[in-house]
Amino acid sequence: MTSHPTGDELSQPTPPTEESPSSYIPGRLLHRSFTHHPASVLSAKASTLFLSDGRSILDACGGAAVATIGHGHPSVLDAISRQAQDVSYVHTQAFTTPAAEDLANLLLEGQPGGLDMAFFVGSGSEAVEAAMKLARQWHFERGETQRVHFVARQQGYHGNTMASMSLSSNVARKIPYQGFSYPHVTHVSPPFAYRYQRDAESEEDFTNRLVQEVEDEFLRIGTDKVIAFVGETVIGATAGCVTPPKGYWAGVQAVCQKYGILLILDEIMCGSGRCGAPFAFLQEDVQPDIVTVAKGLGGGYAPIAGVLMNRKVTDVIRNGSGAFVHGHTYQAHPLSCATALEVQKVIRRENLISQCAQMGKLLEELLRREIGGLKSVGDIRGRGLFWAVEFVQDKNTKAPFDPKIGFGVKVQQDAFERGVAIYPGAGTIDGRRGDHVLLAPPFNITRGELETVVEVLRESIMSQEALHG
Ligand code: PMP
Repeated sequence: MTSHPTGDELSQPTPPTEESPSSYIPGRLLHRSFTHHPASVLSAKASTLFLSDGRSILDACGGAAVATIGHGHPSVLDAISRQAQDVSYVHTQAFTTPAAEDLANLLLEGQPGGLDMAFFVGSGSEAVEAAMKLARQWHFERGETQRVHFVARQQGYHGNTMASMSLSSNVARKIPYQGFSYPHVTHVSPPFAYRYQRDAESEEDFTNRLVQEVEDEFLRIGTDKVIAFVGETVIGATAGCVTPPKGYWAGVQAVCQKYGILLILDEIMCGSGRCGAPFAFLQEDVQPDIVTVAKGLGGGYAPIAGVLMNRKVTDVIRNGSGAFVHGHTYQAHPLSCATALEVQKVIRRENLISQCAQMGKLLEELLRREIGGLKSVGDIRGRGLFWAVEFVQDKNTKAPFDPKIGFGVKVQQDAFERGVAIYPGAGTIDGRRGDHVLLAPPFNITRGELETVVEVLRESIMSQEALHG
C-alpha cells in the first residue's frame, strides 16, 4: 500500500536533480506570445515550481486555479502508471472503462443538486461547447426547434473556441475575431457589486434589478427563442472572483423556469472544491440543469473537463432520440479519467475541501489586514481559496489605472521576481481595461506559505505604487 504524505511532507520541495538541464533555449514551440518566452519549469513538488535557471517559485495561483492537491502526489502518480499499464485508450463509441464510470459515480454520488449524469471531454472550452449543444438538443427533442439563443453576462469567461468565445466577454480575446462567432448570444450585467451596485442601492434591490434585467432580456429576445442562461457561479478570471449577491441565482433560476429556459452554470474555474464546497452552486440557493467543470477536476495532472446534467435533461434525451448527438475522439479518456478519479479521492481522503475553506479564511484575513489599507487596493473579494485584488488609481472614485501602465501585470511580474506566481486578470471598466490579480493556491498550501504569498504581494504592490502612484 502506498503511504500518503501529510500536508507538511508535501510542502517540502525536492529540487531538480544534478542531471537536469540548467537552462532552455527558445525554439519552435509557439507560446501565446511570439516574442516573450515563459519560464521553463523542470520539476514541481506540492506548491513549489523549480525553474531551469535554478530559481524556485511558490505557485499561489495553481496555474490558473488548476492545481488543487499540489504537484507530485504519489498516489496520483501511481494511478497514472497503473492506468497506462491497464489500458491507455479506447473509443467511447464501443467501449467504456472502470476509470470513466467510477469518476462519474464519484462526482455524482448522492446526486448533488439533482445532477444525474456526466460527460467527460478534454478542456473547459470543449465542455462549454458540449453544454451549449446538449441544451439545444434538449429543446430540439421537445419540439422547440425555434430556440437558438443564449443569454450570458458581461465580464464572464467561458472559453476560446468559437461558440464558447461568443458567450465570453473578454474583450481583448475577441478583437481579431469579430463576426467569427455563434451569432445568437447577448450579455446582461454581471452580479458584480463593486462595479455594478449603485450608490445607496441595497443588496436586495441590486439583486432584484439584475434578475429583472435577465427577465427583460428574455422578453426582448422572445422567451420561446432562448435556449439557456449561462454564467459562472462565482465569476473567475475576467471580473476576478466575484461572488453573487444573496438570492441572485435563485432569482435567475426562477425566471428561467418561468419560460422553460435551461440554466447552465460554468464551474470550470470556481468548482471542484475551489470555493470551499464540492460545487460552488451548493453554496447558493440554486439547482442548475447543466454544470461544466474542468481545472480542479484533474488538478492539473491530466487534461479533463466534464459536463454534468440533471434528470430533467437526461430524461428528455433518454426517452427521445436516446443519444447525445456530439462526441470527441478523446472523450472520457481512460488516462485522464483515472487521474482525475485519484485526484478526487485524494481530496476526499485528505479532507482538502474543508482545508480549502479554512485556509481561505486565513487568506482573506491576511489580505484584508496586510494589503487592504494600501492606496491602490480598491477591492478584495472571493471565497474559499479563490481571491482577487482589484487595483485602482483612486479609491474614492474607483477610477482604474491608465491601461497603458498595466498595473496588475506589473504587480504580477514583480511578485514573480520575488518568487511568487500570481495570475493577472482584467475586467472592463467603462470600456477600459481594469486591473486585478488572482490568488488560487493548492488546497494544501501551508499557513507559512500563505503568509509568504501575502507578504510578497504587499511588497510588489507597494513597489508599483511608488512608481505609478
Ligand atoms: N470557463 C471558465 C469559467 C474558465 O475559467 C475557463 C478557463 N479559464 C474556461 C471556461 C475555458 O477552459 P479551457 O481554457 O480549459 O478551454
